[in-house]
Amino acid sequence: MTVFNNQKELKAHLKLLLKNNKTIGFIPTMGALHNGHLSLFKKSFQQNDVTVVSIFVNPTQFNNKEDLDKYPRIFEEDIKKIKSLNLDIIVYAPTIEDIYGKNVVSERFDYDGLENKMEGKQRPGHFDGVGTIVKTLFTIVNPTRAYFGEKDYQQVLIINKMVKKHQLPVKIVMCPILREKNGLAMSSRNERLTSEEREKASFIYASLLKAKELFQTESFQEVYNFVTKAFQSQKLLDLEYFTIADSKTLMEITKKYKTKKYRAFIAVNVGKVRLIDTIH
Ligand code: AMP
Repeated sequence: MTVFNNQKELKAHLKLLLKNNKTIGFIPTMGALHNGHLSLFKKSFQQNDVTVVSIFVNPTQFNNKEDLDKYPRIFEEDIKKIKSLNLDIIVYAPTIEDIYGKNVVSERFDYDGLENKMEGKQRPGHFDGVGTIVKTLFTIVNPTRAYFGEKDYQQVLIINKMVKKHQLPVKIVMCPILREKNGLAMSSRNERLTSEEREKASFIYASLLKAKELFQTESFQEVYNFVTKAFQSQKLLDLEYFTIADSKTLMEITKKYKTKKYRAFIAVNVGKVRLIDTIH
């Protein structure tokens, strides 16, 4: 494992590898690594000559200052976890200045409306921040493939849109969601939950499974009513949104078509911790 803190040295290192036609797999993360992240690293390692992982809590994608301040930062533990994989991974852990210089602002992106739904609607500016950091990191790392988690499904569609619009020469690979034993989707934010909250939060995935089952025979409205009612009896869980949308356009379902693929999306606040999940 090699760690770089500045892009100049990283670029110089990668230039040599690219010269020899090596493929580069890249996984952008915000650290506080868990097995979900590690599964992306392993996949990249299988599919590429070189794997680069970035660890950077990107300020411009946070619309909530408290969420940014409280985001877990445990770099030493992250490094230990990567080392324990025994894979030759390059880590890029830049400072804010190395990425943004003195101007910590987002570029504006047009994702053809994908940005106005769900996470984009609830977190204004979030996807401009995501686009800004991912495009910047792609320019620095020049990856052949980049790996993203299905947990942030809307983010994967948005990144794909950006890659197409900006004609970036990278293939986006979506990887399945890793879960805790109780079904809760692994997330760095889970670190901030009490053990009781963590246990109760398993209800999020349980309700997605139930929604999926109901959706086979019932209308969206029936499923929606079921889920919203079910959350009313969960004292620790505050449902922010639940929706079922077209998997390609993210348009909320109005009528069920057999030929279309749908996906359910959910966001739940557990105390001050905001969790998301999805199922298809
Ligand atoms: P983050 O550090 O939260 O920005 O996540 C970095 C990448 O890991 C993103 O592409 C996430 O979608 C992905 N990821 C996060 N949680 C999981 C999970 N439970 N399973 C698989 N991938 C995940």
